[in-house]
Amino acid sequence: MTWFDIQKDDAHVKRERAKARDLRQSAWWQQQCQAGVCHYCKQTVGADALTMDHVVPVARGGGSTKGNIVPCCNDCNSKKSLKTPAEQILDQLFPKKTLRIADPHGFCSGVARAIRMAESALTACGHSCPRPAQQSEHIYCLNEIVHNQHVVAQLTAQGMKFVRRLEDIPEGARILFSAHGVSPAVRVAAARRGLRVIDATCPFVEKVHAEVRRFVATEATIICIGHRNHEEVIGVAGEAPDRTIVVENAQEVEALDIPPEHPIAVVTQTTLGATQVDAVMDALRKRFTTIASPPHSDICYATRDRQNAVRELAKRCDCVIVLGSANSSNSQRLAETAREGGGTAILISEMTDLDRHDWAPFRTLGITSGASTPEAFLDEVVEALVTRFHFSLFIEPVHTVEGT
Ligand code: SF4
Repeated sequence: MTWFDIQKDDAHVKRERAKARDLRQSAWWQQQCQAGVCHYCKQTVGADALTMDHVVPVARGGGSTKGNIVPCCNDCNSKKSLKTPAEQILDQLFPKKTLRIADPHGFCSGVARAIRMAESALTACGHSCPRPAQQSEHIYCLNEIVHNQHVVAQLTAQGMKFVRRLEDIPEGARILFSAHGVSPAVRVAAARRGLRVIDATCPFVEKVHAEVRRFVATEATIICIGHRNHEEVIGVAGEAPDRTIVVENAQEVEALDIPPEHPIAVVTQTTLGATQVDAVMDALRKRFTTIASPPHSDICYATRDRQNAVRELAKRCDCVIVLGSANSSNSQRLAETAREGGGTAILISEMTDLDRHDWAPFRTLGITSGASTPEAFLDEVVEALVTRFHFSLFIEPVHTVEGT
């Protein structure tokens, strides 16, 4: 996989996201028209009696003043025209409940690539054509392909089998390695069982494996900053199990039993928060004199860009909803990043989670999704917030540059 391929994947993800956004906008507008409901008085007046109104919410802390198109009945339209300039300013200062969507959000190129590989493998093995079941060859995936229950459920429905141990896979079967990657020991064990491997390891994770292999040639002890139970960290540490120590936080650095003058080399899990990594790096610099690390942080561009976007979003919203599974590292980090400035962030992994919270006190809600969360889930949540909780969708996204 070349850098060009990664860029191509990335462009594909961006195109898909723009398409989904346009669809969401037009579907929402059509739905409003079909319902014939006025945005202001909430009366059902019929599609013919509705006109388009351009609402311009005032973005706190700067940002775009481009607004949202909403349906308005003739009655409300005429009342609005009677409003004094002061009333109109008050309307702008205290806009209706709005929902802002972070950009970028959702699938990264690594996740999109892994899912595409899984679907292609399923298609090639006869799972998406009406052949008799016995003619379809099973495809096994070691662990979750990405940490999201919606993606796993969808691929399971398409015929993929998810297993936790290689021993649960019949010899000679096809196995897919997830985007988080695996250790060399797992590759050797898979080869011993004659398993045919489809490797969906994200190239950014593969890069961290290559760094560890490079550091093994030196005499340094390798420190891997990350969550020791996360599959990505288990795979990376497995490149040099007797030379690698996993640390999760600055306190664990204090407890390291290594002399200060001993050289260390540092690698990082790709989906960590920048603040967390900085704190551990500071502790390592205080403790050790010789530290080797890659020229750029191992936190991948997708994690970084989504964290930058949610940081900006949190400044403009009363509360940020992060869509993602509880075991998704990057979704958890998005929630932490949103809370950094003292704001509120809530992780939502199922539609039922929405009903467990009271959204009434929030005037401006931000919404983002982790790198493994499907766009369809975001659509579902947005629709529920607009229809059941009466938020207006603020289409103009909070934008940060992607791919930097
Ligand atoms: S979050 Fe980063 S490392 Fe993980 S799959 Fe996506 S691009 Fe790859």
